[in-house]
Amino acid sequence: MSKILVLGGAGYIGSHTVYELLDEGFEVVVADNLETGHRQAVHPGAALCVGDIRDKAFLDGLFRRERVDAVIHFAAYSLVGESMADPLKYYANNVGGTQVLLSSMVANGVDKLVFSSTAAAYGEPKRIPIEEGDPAEPTNTYGATKLAVEQMFKWTALAHGLRYVALRYFNACGAHPSGHIGEDHSPETHLIPIVLQTANGTRPEIEIFGTDYPTKDGSCVRDYVHVCDLAQAHVKAVRYLFAGGENSVFNLGNGVGFTVREVIRAAEEVVGHKIPAVYAGRRRGDPAALVASGSRAKTVLGWEPHYESIHTILETAWRWHRARPNGFDEDR
Ligand code: UDP
Repeated sequence: MSKILVLGGAGYIGSHTVYELLDEGFEVVVADNLETGHRQAVHPGAALCVGDIRDKAFLDGLFRRERVDAVIHFAAYSLVGESMADPLKYYANNVGGTQVLLSSMVANGVDKLVFSSTAAAYGEPKRIPIEEGDPAEPTNTYGATKLAVEQMFKWTALAHGLRYVALRYFNACGAHPSGHIGEDHSPETHLIPIVLQTANGTRPEIEIFGTDYPTKDGSCVRDYVHVCDLAQAHVKAVRYLFAGGENSVFNLGNGVGFTVREVIRAAEEVVGHKIPAVYAGRRRGDPAALVASGSRAKTVLGWEPHYESIHTILETAWRWHRARPNGFDEDR
């Protein structure tokens, strides 16, 4: 049985990937500093080691002790707004932390890595849908740090034989069908949780950031992809590296765009009542439209999203937010 180290496995996408890896028979070790992750999000079938990727001694000890076959790396700061206000915090953790990780992997002879990258690496796209070879010119620090990490992989591969896959996610959303895990950021900045927290009464209203974009109703267009589909893509990427696959970058999205207003309307249909919304100005760093071409992931990884309907995606998220209005803080 192969053993996988999941860095950031207590976070949103990481915790769902751990569930998927265990379902598929992998042995899993999670490392997380629990700064933004949740201990309760870690599946009891995985071992949890609390520590930070910027701590080389912690990583060296982990690699020596656990003898893992591959690493999936989610450990990063991920708030676009915060990344614009405090860029150096993002470079220190997302880029600096990954540099420490790569040094430790090289020193300990671990050569396979699947990385959590982002559609924010593209910035304002030149065309829709976006393909992997399109220009990558980030408009926010978060995207810039993820792109810098992808470039660090390229040079580390040349020098030390690193084997990697970078997965550029579009908008991750939804929750695990078991109801045990879901999205819980603090502060929450993402559209779907904020819409559903407005629906469950945790917030008074949702602000629509920008109504003057060149889109069909003036609000931003995004490609919403279910977190369990993303989790499956990571497992496929690990198998691809085990099978000798080449270093590569893949988009992960549904290939369909929805405006902010369309998401709110679909959420109203799912919850069965109106959700108060107000218009607000644009948010700094937001591109007008981001929609993936997912054809490379389909052809090369054999990945196919199962949650294609925005209503079904919202239903899984609503089950989580309705049951746990305070996220993981409530008793199980
Ligand atoms: N958005 C919004 N109101 C909010 C949060 C987000 O209008 O309270 C918009 C945001 O401007 C973007 C879309 O919803 O166009 C998705 O934002 P999110 O933060 O979920 O993901 P991002 O696209 O930044 O990764």
